[in-house]
Amino acid sequence: MIDFQVPADLQAVQRRVAGFVRAEVLPAEEALGDGIESDEALEAIASLRSAARAAGLWNPHLPEEWGGMGLGPLGMALVSQECGASGLASLALNAMAPDEGNMHLLLHAGTPDQRERYLRPLADAEARSCFAMTEKAAGADPAGITTMARRDGSGWVLDGEKWFITGAAGAAFAIVVARTDPDAKPRDAYSLFIVDADLPGWNVLREVPVMGTHLAGGHCEVAIEGCRVEATSMLGGVGDGYKLAQARLGPARLAHCMRWVGVAQRALDMASAYSLRRETFGEPLARRQTIQNWFADSAIELYASRLMVLHAAYLLEKGVEARQEVSMAKVYVSEALGRIVDRAIQVHGALGYSGDLPLERFYRDARAARIYDGPSEVHRMVIARNLLKVAMEGNGTKRATGDPT
Ligand SMILES: Cc1cc2nc3c(=O)[nH]c(=O)nc-3n(C[C@H](O)[C@H](O)[C@H](O)COP(=O)(O)OP(=O)(O)OC[C@H]3O[C@@H](n4cnc5c(N)ncnc54)[C@H](O)[C@@H]3O)c2cc1C
Repeated sequence: MIDFQVPADLQAVQRRVAGFVRAEVLPAEEALGDGIESDEALEAIASLRSAARAAGLWNPHLPEEWGGMGLGPLGMALVSQECGASGLASLALNAMAPDEGNMHLLLHAGTPDQRERYLRPLADAEARSCFAMTEKAAGADPAGITTMARRDGSGWVLDGEKWFITGAAGAAFAIVVARTDPDAKPRDAYSLFIVDADLPGWNVLREVPVMGTHLAGGHCEVAIEGCRVEATSMLGGVGDGYKLAQARLGPARLAHCMRWVGVAQRALDMASAYSLRRETFGEPLARRQTIQNWFADSAIELYASRLMVLHAAYLLEKGVEARQEVSMAKVYVSEALGRIVDRAIQVHGALGYSGDLPLERFYRDARAARIYDGPSEVHRMVIARNLLKVAMEGNGTKRATGDPT
C-alpha cells in the first residue's frame, strides 16, 4: 500500500528544514572548514541548536510532550533527507544517531522513571548516550554475544566486552545488550540494561581509529567488568533484548537511509554545478557524454533510493510490518550512496579528492554504511530468505519485492 500524496503539513516542515539547512547549517559547516572533525565543531553545534530551537525545529522525532515536533517515520524521512546535506544538521535538530534511536527505545520500552531519568536529558541535549551490542566476536550474527548479566541480590552484575560503540566516550549512559539466559535460544537469551557511565566496571578503553569522520565520542572499545546495576536498570523485561534491539534497529536503519539520500543529493548537486563551470579542452564538463551518463545514473539511483525510503517510512507510519522493505532500502541506498559520491569526486578531479570540499568526507563515511546496522550481505541473506518463503507458497514473489498495491 502507498499514498503518493505527501501531506501538506509535512511538505511545509520539509521546506522549513531545507531553509534552515541552507541558511544556518551549510554556512556554519563552511566556516568550520577542516575544523568540522575537531572540538571547534562543538561550539558551532551548540549555536545551531539554539537556532533550531528558536525556529521550532527541535526534536522532530519526539512527541510534543517531550518538547518535540511529533513527526512519525514519514515526516522524519522528509526531514532527514534535508538534514543529510550536512553532518551538522541532524545534530542541530537533536535527531542524530545513536541518540535518536535510543530516545525512541526509551519512549517505547522505558518505565516512567527511566524516561524521566534518561530520555529527558537526551531530549534536552544535556547528555549523550550509546547503544552497546557489537562484540569483537559477534557483529553481524548477534547469536555470538557473550556479555553476561547474572542476578545479584536485587540487581544484576554484567561482565563482557563491546566494541565499535558509537559515542561511548563521554556518553552519560549506555543501553547494553547482555545475555541473561545462557541456555535459551538467541531470541529469548538477551536483555537490555541501562548502564550509567560512571558506574564502577564500565570502562571505555579507547576510541578505535576509523577511516570515517571523527565524531564526538568516537567508536569505542569497552570493557565491562563486574558492573553492578539495579533491577530497575533493565529496559523492558527479562529476555526482551533481541526483540527490542530489532524494534530499535528497524527505524534506525531507515533513518540512516533517509540521511544518505540527502548526502547523495548534495554530492550530485555539487558535481552538476561544477560540471557547468569547469571547462576542459574548450568545453564545459557538462557537455561530455560520459559525465552526462554519470549524472543520469546518479539521478536514477537517487530516485529509486528516495522512493524506497518514502515507501518503507510510509509503511512504518501506518504500523505495517516492513522489515523486507527496510532491508532492501538499507542495501540499495547505502550502495548507491557510495557510487554517487564516487562519481561526484571524479567529476571534481583533484579538488574532489581534497579536504577543501566535503566530498572526501562523504566518501569515507559512505564506506561504513555498507557495514553498520547489518552488512549488505546479511540483509541480502534475509531478503532472499523472505522471498523464498513467499515463493514456497506457490503464488510468485511479488509480496516480497516491495509491491505497493
Ligand atoms: C562506523 C560504525 C559504527 C558502529 N556503531 C555501532 C554501535 O554504536 N553499536 C554497536 O553495537 N555496533 C556498532 N557498529 C558495529 C556494527 O553493527 C557491526 O560492524 C556490524 O554488525 C557487522 O559486524 P562485524 O563488523 O563484526 O562483521 P562480521 O559479523 O564479522 O562480518 C564480516 C563480514 O562478513 C560478511 N558476512 C557476515 N555474515 C554473512 C552472511 N551471512 N553471508 C554473507 N556474508 C556475510 C559481511 O561482508 C561482513 O561485512 C558500528 C560499526 C561501524 C563500522
